[in-house]
Amino acid sequence: MTALENLIQTLSRLPGIGPKSASRLAYHLIKTDPFYNRTLAESIATIQEKIFPCSVCGSFTETDPCPICSDAGRDRTQLCVVEQPQDVVTLQSSGAYNGLYHVLGGAISPLDGIGPEHLSFSALLKRIETGAFQELIIATNPTEEGDTTALYIRHILKDWSELSITRLASGLPIGGDLEYADRITLARSLRQRVRF
Ligand code: ZN
Repeated sequence: MTALENLIQTLSRLPGIGPKSASRLAYHLIKTDPFYNRTLAESIATIQEKIFPCSVCGSFTETDPCPICSDAGRDRTQLCVVEQPQDVVTLQSSGAYNGLYHVLGGAISPLDGIGPEHLSFSALLKRIETGAFQELIIATNPTEEGDTTALYIRHILKDWSELSITRLASGLPIGGDLEYADRITLARSLRQRVRF
């Protein structure tokens, strides 16, 4: 295998990159500034040494606990449960939440062989058992797996009557027209309509 074929094959293993995109990227890298290539290679080679899961919330961090878990200015009575570390970044960018997070590491998906034992539910229960939280916000994806996971969380926390359990609302995109909303989003928006 030539160096070029090797690079194309390696790039094509990245998510969302097919053989055609991999080939385009490889030819781009041949022509590009050598300093850029070295910086890119160095960033990739060291990322796993620098970034690791926070021992408290499971989000990716360079310090343990992560900056969010160790931020004294955040509301420590609210806990938001998400599937993936990148969901924390997304919710943070909304600017609308100032509580803590818990990353499950995925969603329950029997078809993919992912059961509750593969996700960080025991760590979640340990955090709830401290009694520090008043509200648990379930922010799993609005998918079948996300819904199953949300129901499972409600089930394992059914005895915590003093804990308010909420879930992110699903609805219509801001600035969009009703006629362009997909049927499922529209149906969920109707079921979860709010008093006005
Ligand atoms: Zn953390």
